[in-house]
Amino acid sequence: MLEKDVKYIVLHCSATRSNQAYTVEQLTRDHQARGFRTVGYHFYIRQDGSVTQHRKLLEAGAHAMGYNHCSIGICYEGGLDVNGNPCDTRTEAQKRGLLDLFIILSKMFPEAKVVGHCELPHVHKACPCIDMETWRKELAAHVKHFKFAKDCCR
Ligand SMILES: [Zn+2]
Repeated sequence: MLEKDVKYIVLHCSATRSNQAYTVEQLTRDHQARGFRTVGYHFYIRQDGSVTQHRKLLEAGAHAMGYNHCSIGICYEGGLDVNGNPCDTRTEAQKRGLLDLFIILSKMFPEAKVVGHCELPHVHKACPCIDMETWRKELAAHVKHFKFAKDCCR
């Protein structure tokens, strides 16, 4: 991908239960079993807020059918409650980590739309199981603030 090709920043969940650990090793193994070279997401964020990068920023991922050539994929660990139902299970550490990551990416790719996996056409699952409208508002507030700070330094 070229920088201008990045049209979407797509949020996913791992669709694992909140009381179940899903490590980077398990994720890697599962994605390799599906035939991917490595993890299909660019970034993975665990319940403790730790972030790992698995693809170069402009390398095509394997996370959103039909959109891998124009998007960056981020996945958080969780997305299902203890009974296996879709649920926003993000921990405070994950929320902070995701916000930091999305602020950076939104500034690097200001034209890219921040979307949840389920908002892309023909996706019939709840992924990432969070209220995307609220999340985008929160993100927009932070990104605006950063732009303002930058303008002040001119
Ligand atoms: Zn997804």
